[in-house]
Amino acid sequence: MVKRPEGRAPLRGGVAADFRIALACFIIALSFSTSAFAAAESDLLVSYDNTYASSVGGEDNAQVSAANAIAGCNAIYDRSGAGARIRIVGYHQAAQNLYQTTSKGGYVNWMNGYDAHMTDIVDAGNARGADLVTLICVSTADGALAVAQQPGRYSAFDPSGLWSTVVAHELGGHNFGCDHRDGHTNPKTVMLHNYCGGGAQGWFSNPNIWLNGARLLGGDSCLGVGPNGGDNSYLISANCQGRADAYTRIVTAPNLGNVVRRWSFNQTASDAPAGTTVTDSITGTELATVQGTGANFTGSGLKIPGGASGSGAAYLQLPGGVISSYANVTIEIWAKEISAQNWALVLDFNNGTANYLTLTASIGTDLNQQRFESVVGGATAASRPRRACCIITRSLTPAPAAAAGRGRGFATAIKLLISKSPTRSRRCRT
Ligand SMILES: [Zn+2]
Repeated sequence: MVKRPEGRAPLRGGVAADFRIALACFIIALSFSTSAFAAAESDLLVSYDNTYASSVGGEDNAQVSAANAIAGCNAIYDRSGAGARIRIVGYHQAAQNLYQTTSKGGYVNWMNGYDAHMTDIVDAGNARGADLVTLICVSTADGALAVAQQPGRYSAFDPSGLWSTVVAHELGGHNFGCDHRDGHTNPKTVMLHNYCGGGAQGWFSNPNIWLNGARLLGGDSCLGVGPNGGDNSYLISANCQGRADAYTRIVTAPNLGNVVRRWSFNQTASDAPAGTTVTDSITGTELATVQGTGANFTGSGLKIPGGASGSGAAYLQLPGGVISSYANVTIEIWAKEISAQNWALVLDFNNGTANYLTLTASIGTDLNQQRFESVVGGATAASRPRRACCIITRSLTPAPAAAAGRGRGFATAIKLLISKSPTRSRRCRT
């Protein structure tokens, strides 16, 4: 537990509905490696109640605050040689408004006991394979910034306690078994935060570390001698693998079993005149047909020359009704632009100009911009429900007033894969 500093009023906030719009889009995932060593990584579920989320402007802000605090905790681990790391595995807004329902110790006990107030939080943690579960919520007055099991899975934070040192103390320290008494007094280390007079530096005790001329060997505090030789970092390093293994990590992967059409265009390099067909490898029967002139197989794709609509330039015709029977689809295309064509189409599913789903390789002839757009029942520009989004990180601009007159040509190598639902739908355990 971290004691609350004096003179602080609890946060309050109104309850507001949170609206989100999910856009189906193309996603580029970037990953960064930040550790110079392999730490044992524990998965954390961050939960909060709607009163807290509303008080900070919504769930997005609540999640960013938590992510920053966890990043700070990981920095403390790194500099302290603790050998542990925490990864946020998910966020969850509690089903119930828990504002001042009980103390933070009460919140922890409710989670640990699968109390009816918090079954949804524990379930959310289990569903994500979370090794640690925390709740951010204003409790009844209990004199604490936060409370955590020592050791254990659960912790609870007052919103004012959601910052790096307190997070490291509670779910980063106590949950791994750390005791206050193994902290170092001067300079003050994390596990003595707010004990024996005031705050703390962002370090766990570790006798191999010297800070400001002082060796961070703990066990000398006003609380008495610690049970672990004054070394919180060693205890964390000894326990972090067990903490990380407490619940099986859940990972997601593409569910290729949902693929309903696949054209790979791996034919031997040759011309592909009008009427050339390519068989869908899933059904074994559906044919994509080359229309127009100038297409050729490259050995790993189909190259089409590009040209204005009506010019007779080659394009690929898919069978009718290929996506219309599905409520949700994922379409994956591998394509490379090799020339700039006016409003070049990568794909265009339609039954006329009023209903279509289209992806362009360029906006006008600007290859730095693409557009994904769906129009349903749009007889006029004013009545068109339209969703446009950028792909990769390129810019978003308003859609044109009419879809007519677009160039058909798109010089490319194409691979096309259609799935009947979002592909990131299968979960497996490692
Ligand atoms: Zn404590």
